[in-house]
Amino acid sequence: MSHIDLHSHSCASDGILNPEDLVSSAKYHGVEVLALTDHDTVSGVAAAQARAREEGIHLIPGIEFSATWRGISLHILGLGIDPNADTLLQATARQAQARETRAQLIAARLTKHGFNDALAGAEQHAQGRQVGRAHFARFLLESGQVTSLKQAFKHYLGAGKIGDVKHLWPELSEVVEWIHGAGGAAVLAHPRRYKMTNTKLRALLADFAAAGGDGMEVICGPQNTPVTEYLADLSLDFELYASAGSDFHGPVSRWQKPGAFGTLPARCRPLPM
Ligand code: AMP
Ligand code: MN
Ligand code: MN
Ligand code: MN
Repeated sequence: MSHIDLHSHSCASDGILNPEDLVSSAKYHGVEVLALTDHDTVSGVAAAQARAREEGIHLIPGIEFSATWRGISLHILGLGIDPNADTLLQATARQAQARETRAQLIAARLTKHGFNDALAGAEQHAQGRQVGRAHFARFLLESGQVTSLKQAFKHYLGAGKIGDVKHLWPELSEVVEWIHGAGGAAVLAHPRRYKMTNTKLRALLADFAAAGGDGMEVICGPQNTPVTEYLADLSLDFELYASAGSDFHGPVSRWQKPGAFGTLPARCRPLPM
């Protein structure tokens, strides 16, 4: 358990809880500092901030930007951003447009594959908010076309599958500029989730650091000690601050809770927050 959780989602993107309930859940689980990092939007920040004041916990305004690097989709956290900064509002408007176009492309591809009404189905799960792949996954599951969300990503939505439309995202360096423009720290999210070789991951970290990236997640949710040690070493090699968070998306299983992850190795430099 950790008291500082720098990665979480509400229903402003693909989380299950509304921002208020997310904050209360974090408080209940002993979190004292929570960053709300919805995908490509800060629309949940104000509501989360209000509830955080009531609950007496510290809310860090954040975002998880979608980006590309060498044709691979990446996630970059912006922590401690000013949600009202002009650069940020422009950036989120652009990402919202990209998401809309992408949702149509994903739906068209799914339709070609025989899944009808995917856009309407995904939109229903998004409840008027921006559409993500998780909403398509929920639609495929609910309509009985896959047996689990995992299967939906494995066969249709994950990296390299028909629903993996990534050419609409901005370059990594541009996203770092957006985050800095809004006064935040740029942190590479879950570096091990991109299925890269170690060599490629080092190349990514070199480019990210050169672009001005500030930190990387050394811990993202429950993970094995050797992974944590490996990522801690990388953070030191590339002189990046170490960040840790749950990537909580909702109470969908017993082990998914805000703050549910281990502690950073002592040799790491934690992100100053
Ligand atoms: P998007 O931001 O629309 O590209 O969607 C990415 C999101 O899909 C991630 O943040 C996760 O919430 C979800 N996701 C990705 N892979 C999986 C998976 N294998 N199983 C369940 N959810 C996933
Ligand atoms: Mn997500
Ligand atoms: Mn992510
Ligand atoms: Mn996330």
